[in-house]
Amino acid sequence: MDICAESEDQDPFYIIDLSMVLKKLNDWKSFMPRVQPFYAIKCNNDSFICKLLALSGCGFDCASKPEIEFALNMGVEPERIIYANPCKAEAMLRYAKDKGVRKMTADNVEELHKIASIFPAAQIVLRIAVDDSKSVCRFNSKFGAAQHEWEKLLQVAKTLGLDIAGFSFHVGSGCGDVKAFSDAVASARDAFDMAEAYGFAPFLLDCGGGFPGSDDGHFTFREVAEILANAIDHYFPPSSGVQIIAEPGRYMVAASHTYAVAVIAKRQLTADQLTGTAEIESFGARAGKEETSVDSTPDVALYISDGCYGSFNCVVFDHAILTPQVLGKKADLPFLVPTKLFGPTCDSIDVVMGCTRLPDLSVGDWLWFSNMGAYTRCASSRFNGQGAHSLHYVWAGVPSS
Ligand code: PLP
Repeated sequence: MDICAESEDQDPFYIIDLSMVLKKLNDWKSFMPRVQPFYAIKCNNDSFICKLLALSGCGFDCASKPEIEFALNMGVEPERIIYANPCKAEAMLRYAKDKGVRKMTADNVEELHKIASIFPAAQIVLRIAVDDSKSVCRFNSKFGAAQHEWEKLLQVAKTLGLDIAGFSFHVGSGCGDVKAFSDAVASARDAFDMAEAYGFAPFLLDCGGGFPGSDDGHFTFREVAEILANAIDHYFPPSSGVQIIAEPGRYMVAASHTYAVAVIAKRQLTADQLTGTAEIESFGARAGKEETSVDSTPDVALYISDGCYGSFNCVVFDHAILTPQVLGKKADLPFLVPTKLFGPTCDSIDVVMGCTRLPDLSVGDWLWFSNMGAYTRCASSRFNGQGAHSLHYVWAGVPSS
């Protein structure tokens, strides 16, 4: 796709290709027809994207009352929603009950008591901990019941008269080991067997998220789909009658967004600025160094029109490794100048990339970044009055099916 920037105010902007979202959904359906996707709204709550997914029959993973409200307001039926937050505020739980959103995750005894007292008719999906050691964003320290806890949870659920509808797992976001998915399904089988031995009749397996947003990483979506679908067929054959869902976030939206930012200021870096600042080098700077040659030091700093307090929060929270591209004629120049990319705020930790190689750029030039649809806009702040960006929707391709 060709992008050109004519914006005089140098405000950053997104190009959002809605056809890419539909392509992702179509690919999902053809490679994993047994797994119904429940899109994780937290990843990017863009209304056009969510509406497109809702109209295409996708379900939704909601983490809070506002997300449930958002899905219901799009006309999504309560049955197409899973309240996938194992630790819920009581008021939000009451809201789920009022709206008839019955499917919800839990992973600890206190939560089971809370659900029993507020919404005993809930369909509880116990979230089990699985190996997330190869994932960029790991969740086990916060969520998921270890195997030695399952029995206790089932006993408590039995005593409280709760319905254990099934089990969920999340291999971690940005998963780097495709085998984590098949191992997790095997663990879920053990959990189903234990629940059945306790007299429950679980009918739902939720395979969580962790699917790649692009095919540039450790494995492609096709590879993970094949391994996961095989594991599901092995441990939960169609004859088992178990309904299979998953909560993809990144997979659906990452590739749909391209982000353009302007160079708003430039300075040559002095020795003073390169030494003595290690302690305030941001997460962003570290990520940048990992990506490029660690031994190079930047000669020049470019200040760009969004940073780590805006959409590039992905560098901090999502451990994103960025690949800047240059707009316009200078894109053909060699990428030789070791460059530090600062965000526009007055905070020195607002470093988007510690050192990357770019052509010799000037104020008024533009950079662009692909795969910026996941965990970017949704966590952007207005710190320093920055972080605003415009949105331009396009339909660039014909969805495959
Ligand atoms: N489900 C839950 C409960 C999550 O916490 C997340 C991400 O944080 C997701 C799904 C989406 O994960 P991903 O974007 O890796 O697919």
